[in-house]
Amino acid sequence: MTTHRTDVCIAGGGPAGVFLGLLLARAGVDVMVLEKHDDFFRDFRGDTVHPSTVNLIDALGLRAAFDAVPHEPLPQLDAVINGIRIHLVDFTTLPPPNRFITLMPQWDLLDMLAEAGSRHPSFHLTMGAEVAGVTERDGRVTGVVTTSGDAIEARLVVAADGRTSTVRDALGFTPEGAQVDTDVLWFRVPRPERPLPDTLGWASTAGVVITIPRPEYLQCALLVRKDEHFDTVEAFRDRVVQIVPRLAPVIEAVASLDDVKRLNVQINRLPRWWRPGALCIGDAAHAMSPVFGVGINYAVQDAVAAARVLIPVLRPRGSVKDAADEALDAACEAVQRRRERPTAMMQAIQRRAHVLLGTGRVAQLIDNPPTRAQRTVLRLALPVLRRVVAQVVGYGFRPERL
Ligand SMILES: Cc1cc2nc3c(=O)[nH]c(=O)nc-3n(C[C@H](O)[C@H](O)[C@H](O)COP(=O)(O)OP(=O)(O)OC[C@H]3O[C@@H](n4cnc5c(N)ncnc54)[C@H](O)[C@@H]3O)c2cc1C
Repeated sequence: MTTHRTDVCIAGGGPAGVFLGLLLARAGVDVMVLEKHDDFFRDFRGDTVHPSTVNLIDALGLRAAFDAVPHEPLPQLDAVINGIRIHLVDFTTLPPPNRFITLMPQWDLLDMLAEAGSRHPSFHLTMGAEVAGVTERDGRVTGVVTTSGDAIEARLVVAADGRTSTVRDALGFTPEGAQVDTDVLWFRVPRPERPLPDTLGWASTAGVVITIPRPEYLQCALLVRKDEHFDTVEAFRDRVVQIVPRLAPVIEAVASLDDVKRLNVQINRLPRWWRPGALCIGDAAHAMSPVFGVGINYAVQDAVAAARVLIPVLRPRGSVKDAADEALDAACEAVQRRRERPTAMMQAIQRRAHVLLGTGRVAQLIDNPPTRAQRTVLRLALPVLRRVVAQVVGYGFRPERL
């Protein structure tokens, strides 16, 4: 067993953990990020990078590195409801300079951030290190232990290990929130030869499909009820093509149901995000649904809010030893105070969207062809809706600045 010592030990190298690690290390705070996998390459991660995150990347001076990674900026997004294409989101209505959402495979984003972190001597990222639990003394968390038996002593332990957080469990915390009755079936197909306009989602009475363009293929999601299962791959393909007829030429790429991964959708939140010596952020504090693809953004915003209050405490006049435990606890409490409300507001919207999407009611919003009244409503409502959705998706509530 080896014992390491650091100021902040972060469990989880997802967007929340890597971003916080980078921000702390940049300020000279010694930080260890422990990621249980050997690399960042995992398919289940979302791909969206929001204008608020791009603004932060600009502020960190990482724009050139970011632009060097292939990604797909989307200034506008459509939804196809009952066969009617609607320009639903217009990011060009946002304030400059970043008036787009961009799609970058999350592993590329994390690699880029980790690379930026590695330029700071106090940034230590260990891949293949799985946190098994926390250590405590007199009611205060003092560090973590890994499954390989290593111990890390830290002034502060941050749980950024996602929706099934081990650290959160070890802290004795249980997230609260009614179950969402939707799951996501995650699959990929080659891009159809006839290009698809950038489309957020497709809804019909048969269901809802999301299509995310990745450089060489489309990452797709079919929303299903939690109790809904397909017996054959043909039944699955039929359902997808019913919703998105334009995927018919490529859907055979889903060769068997093994190519379809079920992802458990959750929306929940911790009543308390911190304990003396420990803080939960990102999905570990509040699991976000994939609806509107805001989970990464919210994880990053938590990291920025945390860095802003932790840095002055952990580095008063350059000496970590001066940081009083009480000041550290007050900083953790401040993170929850700052981030809880914007998170709750977004989760409330996601819940409503799930009701609309899960019950198929969204497809009943527009007839094909639309009635005269529907056309009038669309003409009047859409210009406002486009701006509002762009703001909510692009920035969420209470965007953070460095
Ligand atoms: C199907 C699906 C699609 C989604 N699509 C999008 C999208 O397009 N855009 C979007 O913004 N959001 C999306 N989300 C939500 C988004 O993925 C999360 O909200 C976001 O990734 C949360 O970031 P995080 O850093 O808190 O946690 P995570 O991204 O879950 O990262 C946690 C990290 O901790 C590691 N870890 C776990 N346990 C341990 C341990 N014991 N020790 C060490 N490491 C550990 C994990 O390997 C992981 O790397 C989607 C969610 C789902 C379910």
